[in-house]
Amino acid sequence: MFTSPYPDTILMGGLLEYHYRKGGPHHRDNVGLREAMRRKTPLIYFLGIEPGKYLAEWPVFIVEDIQHAEIFRVLIDEKNLVENFQRSGPGEVLYASEEYYRRRYVTNQAIARLHQRVFRARVLAAYQEQCAFCRLRHPQLLDAAHIIPDKEEGGDPVIPNGLSLCKIHHAAFDSNIIGVTPNYQIIVREDILQELDGPMLRYGIQQMHKQKLILPSNKDHWPDRQKLEIRFKKFKEVS
Ligand SMILES: [Zn+2]
Repeated sequence: MFTSPYPDTILMGGLLEYHYRKGGPHHRDNVGLREAMRRKTPLIYFLGIEPGKYLAEWPVFIVEDIQHAEIFRVLIDEKNLVENFQRSGPGEVLYASEEYYRRRYVTNQAIARLHQRVFRARVLAAYQEQCAFCRLRHPQLLDAAHIIPDKEEGGDPVIPNGLSLCKIHHAAFDSNIIGVTPNYQIIVREDILQELDGPMLRYGIQQMHKQKLILPSNKDHWPDRQKLEIRFKKFKEVS
C-alpha cells in the first residue's frame, strides 16, 4: 500500500510514474517497493485528489525501477501484463513482449477510466460536491463536466477545465442549452427562454439565466477564463 502526495503522471501504455520517497534508492520504503517488483506483489495505489483525500486503485504492480531518475513505473489493473515485462539485460532498459502490445488497447481503456475517475473526484471535491449552477448537493447526481471536451486541444482532465454539474445541467451545458461567460455568468439560450413548459424548464433551466456561477473556494481551482471564452463562442454560434 503506498500513496502519492502529488498529481501523478499517467503515461500512455498503462504506466504511472511514482517518485521515490525522499532518502534515495536505499530508503526502506523504496527498498520495499523494489522487493514488491521482484515478487510481482499486487499493491494498492492511492492517487492524491486533494490534501488528505485519495482515490484507491488496485491491483497495481511495480514493473520498472529507474534509479537515476528516482522513479518507479507502476502498471495498473492488468495482472497478465506483468508476466510480459522482461528485463533486456543490465541497465534500465525494459521491453515488453508482443502480448503487451496486443493488450495495450485494453490497458489504455483502463487508464482512460482512471483519468475520468480522478478528474471527477478532483472536480467534485473542489466544488465541495455541489452543482456550480443550482447548488444540488447529491454526489450521485453530480458529474465533472469538461469545459473544453476531452478529445479537443486543451481538453485536459484538470480542475480549471472542469465544472461540477448535476446530470441535467451537465447535459444542458454539453448541448449548448446553457452557456457560461468568461465572467462566470450563466446564460440560457434565447429560444429556450421563450419556451413555456413545466417546472423543470421553468425552475431548473430558465431561472438559471444570468445567475453567477458557484465557484470553488480555492481560486486556483476556478474555471480557466480562456477556456470558458472558447467554449462560450461555440455556445453563441449555435444560439
Ligand atoms: Zn444543477
